[in-house]
Amino acid sequence: MLTRSTVAESSAGAEHMLREALEANGQRFTEQRSAVYRYLLGTDAHPTADDVFTSVRGQLPDISLATVYKSLETLVGCGLAVKLTYGDGSARYDGRTDPHPHARCLDCGAVIDVPGRLDGAALACLGPLPGFAVESYRLELVGHCENCGTDR
Ligand SMILES: [Zn+2]
Ligand SMILES: [Zn+2]
Repeated sequence: MLTRSTVAESSAGAEHMLREALEANGQRFTEQRSAVYRYLLGTDAHPTADDVFTSVRGQLPDISLATVYKSLETLVGCGLAVKLTYGDGSARYDGRTDPHPHARCLDCGAVIDVPGRLDGAALACLGPLPGFAVESYRLELVGHCENCGTDR
């Protein structure tokens, strides 16, 4: 299994993974999708579509925000990225697809990865859920990031 860091070390490896996943889902490999994917793999900032657009435009000046949106949705559909959605309708994207907890700043919306993960025993602490088969979890800690002030 390839982790974010081993994939990011080798852009050829990332491109190979992207091609295989796109093909398996009946999608074409494009320069735009590749650039969006490489950007996601190289950051742990959980960028918005606008953030991705701003960065990828540096390499592909002709790319549109709509294409970035569609590329992101394609990557999510192929299981190469995760979309984090929020109650205000905003969304962020994560190139890391294994289940992991996030911490989100209530002031600026920044999302960071939380080290560590919950094991089966911790999940069991949440109590039995008759009639429901748990497959995974999504956990979000909320608070204030260091830029916005933690001393309140
Ligand atoms: Zn903040
Ligand atoms: Zn994450």
